[in-house]
Amino acid sequence: MPKARKSIEDYINYLKSQPNGFLYNDDNHQEGKPVNKQQELDDIKKKFADCSRCPLATQGRNQVVFGIGNPNAEIMFIGEGPGRDEDLKGEPFVGRAGKLLTKIIEAMGLTREEVYISNTVKCRPPNNRTPLPSESDTCINHILMKEISIIKPKVICALGATAAQALLGPDTRLSDVRGSFLPVGKSKLLVTYHPAYLLRNPPAKKFVWEDMLKILSLLGKKPPQRQP
Ligand code: URA
Repeated sequence: MPKARKSIEDYINYLKSQPNGFLYNDDNHQEGKPVNKQQELDDIKKKFADCSRCPLATQGRNQVVFGIGNPNAEIMFIGEGPGRDEDLKGEPFVGRAGKLLTKIIEAMGLTREEVYISNTVKCRPPNNRTPLPSESDTCINHILMKEISIIKPKVICALGATAAQALLGPDTRLSDVRGSFLPVGKSKLLVTYHPAYLLRNPPAKKFVWEDMLKILSLLGKKPPQRQP
């Protein structure tokens, strides 16, 4: 089984060692202290609303598209990056692929509001090109890692090869990692196919459904009967 990218753990350790740097490392996160996760997520949105830390800032984005959903979610879905619809609406996964993701979530017996949905990059790459590793690394370090550390999902579900490579390293092959749980800090990471791939290749839906059943089983939830 491939090891989750060392850098995820490295980043967490690095961030923890920073005296003032990162939200989840402040006093609010000490054992036993109440944490207002929504407030912390809102603080991130405020801080990065005009983010210009990578070139995507000046390549035609309309807005930074932050993650959305339940700050206490047990499951966090991570896609590649916003497309045209997401860039216009300011919400991840609202276009065709997003509608299929919503169907998948609902077939699991859940709603979009119960899970958390985010992306490796928060700004639309021009012409929906794949984000460059330098772009996704920057965005993951500044935003996604904080989202993960605030929400502390039990399961992180990476959608597609780009998200898998951004989280596990550039040599990751989707066929090698799909469908098994990899430990990432206190979460388990499961990689599955991206809904956009399922739109092009509907027979692969059955594999995604198998993966979703594995997630439900890990969380001790009853498997629903229907498949999206
Ligand atoms: N594809 C993604 O990876 N993310 C979105 O938000 C929309 C489509």
